[in-house]
Amino acid sequence: MSRRLTYLDHNATSPLRPEAREAMLAAMDIVGNPSSVHGAGRAARQKVETARAAVADLVGAAPDEVIFTGGATEANNIALRGLGVERVLVSAIEHDSVLAAVPEATRIPVDGAGVVDLAALAALLAAGPANTLVSVMLANNETGVIQPMGEIAKLCVRHGALLHCDAVQAAGKLPLRKAVLGADLLSLSAHKFGGPQGVGALVVPAALPVTPLAFGGGQERRRRPGTENVPAIVGFGAAARLAAEGLEDYALRLAALRDEAEVRLRELAPDAVVFAAGAARAPGTLSIAMPGVDSQTQLMALDLAGVCVSAGSACSSGKVTASHVLMAMGMPVEVAGSAIRISFGWNSTNEDVEALVAAWGALYRRRSPAAQLGAAS
Ligand code: PMP
Repeated sequence: MSRRLTYLDHNATSPLRPEAREAMLAAMDIVGNPSSVHGAGRAARQKVETARAAVADLVGAAPDEVIFTGGATEANNIALRGLGVERVLVSAIEHDSVLAAVPEATRIPVDGAGVVDLAALAALLAAGPANTLVSVMLANNETGVIQPMGEIAKLCVRHGALLHCDAVQAAGKLPLRKAVLGADLLSLSAHKFGGPQGVGALVVPAALPVTPLAFGGGQERRRRPGTENVPAIVGFGAAARLAAEGLEDYALRLAALRDEAEVRLRELAPDAVVFAAGAARAPGTLSIAMPGVDSQTQLMALDLAGVCVSAGSACSSGKVTASHVLMAMGMPVEVAGSAIRISFGWNSTNEDVEALVAAWGALYRRRSPAAQLGAAS
């Protein structure tokens, strides 16, 4: 009998939702290029525009603000490099696709809970030119910490700066409206909430001048030239439509699974460190350290038990450096080096929590004879 896989790595990628897959399969039979004026082209165009409306709807944007890209890495790069600003400020805990896009950007520090230091941001904004772009993510991919975007947006407005928000780990997981966040630009990625990999969007006001990363086509308002990936865009739209239904209940369900896992792991391991436990966090994310056992050892032990989690962010796996997010929060390197990220999503169940607790608990007892005695008595 094949063992059931316990997939708890939705922040790395979420399984494709069956409805998105069906929509993509149907879209693969479309013959037209969305830029062609004949009937086949118009049929493809109509699919792309239906998806655009669904993605816009998910975040409360206008369809003409949605630029489809090959994922959020590309969306972040267009936003960070394409606005022609004099200065870029980024939070110290951004995803690498923001940090590496503008290596010379000034880093805004975060506090011990991983929340952007608003006083530091205000001082930086006051000290420099108004022609500034600020980039702060909504929910962190490693800790789930949610940033005070409303406050950040107010500071940006006061100083005349533009605000970009990487909303990849929040979109489709919790209700979000662009106007409420106050961000001028948003980055989204389909595969974090049940759409396909390799497609995302930059949400950017139609009137804001943007220099693209590539040239040679008029698609996507010249901001992302090249023939659209119609099946992927259709899958993105289908996932966005599904995600938009009952988002509030979904967020509560994810939070309940995460909280259950957190309580159970803490009970098992009283010395475990839950990162940013006191901060507002995206519902499905848990970042926890088992002191004395490095992340890779935990990952491998869990993997052997059929439980998939990640160490810090998946994009940096393979690197043996401690997470820049946990380091920016002031965590000692040995604690950061024992962190794993557990992330829940649309198909997660209580059974997944049980499998996680069993596998992590077994490793913890092997690590700690004292704990084993305690558990037995
Ligand atoms: N931003 C964040 C916060 C992410 O978690 C990721 C995915 N790891 C990205 C950007 C990049 O997204 P994509 O995989 O679509 O390029």
